[in-house]
Amino acid sequence: PPEVAFAGRSNVGKSSLINTLTRRKKLVRVSGTPGRTQHINFFSINQDAIRLVDLPGYGYAKVPKAIRAAWRPMVEAYLSGRDTLAAVVVILDIRREPTGEDLMLLDWLRSLQITVLAAVTKADKLSNNQQASRLAKLRPTLAPFDPTPTLFSASTGQGREELWARVCEAAGV
Ligand code: GDP
Repeated sequence: PPEVAFAGRSNVGKSSLINTLTRRKKLVRVSGTPGRTQHINFFSINQDAIRLVDLPGYGYAKVPKAIRAAWRPMVEAYLSGRDTLAAVVVILDIRREPTGEDLMLLDWLRSLQITVLAAVTKADKLSNNQQASRLAKLRPTLAPFDPTPTLFSASTGQGREELWARVCEAAGV
């Protein structure tokens, strides 16, 4: 089945986004083992029509060096020659500028010609006006990777339908 992966800084809200996105959908974890070190989890959705891939978070200062160093080779091993991979959802916090690591990931995905779906989450932390002005500021930065980023909130469900539609479209399902 086609795969859509999810990536973002640790604590950006990736788990919450995946949970919100897949609520009321039949979801089965097909592999990935919980453990002390970071790992990649695979979730099968709707009788394996699509697989969602939860990539480890990056860039968290409190994460031990050895684990931080393991991120790139682990993700590289996953990405390389992955012809089932339809897109990567890159998750950003609406209140924060994209970090150097966010931009490196975006550049990396683009150089691999992997479709990027940008999701700007925790939108509920800002008023509607503030959301609009933050998005206007983020747009030029994100435009080379995704001209139509999705505003998202795990708390209110904002952007859930839109992001799911984009995931399905990218996966061709
Ligand atoms: P992860 O480390 O990227 O998987 O992040 P989590 O999903 O665990 O979320 C990190 C923290 O942000 C938690 O305290 C969440 O409750 C909070 N959070 C995540 N998404 C949202 C959101 O859309 N709105 C708000 N207000 N809080 C959120």
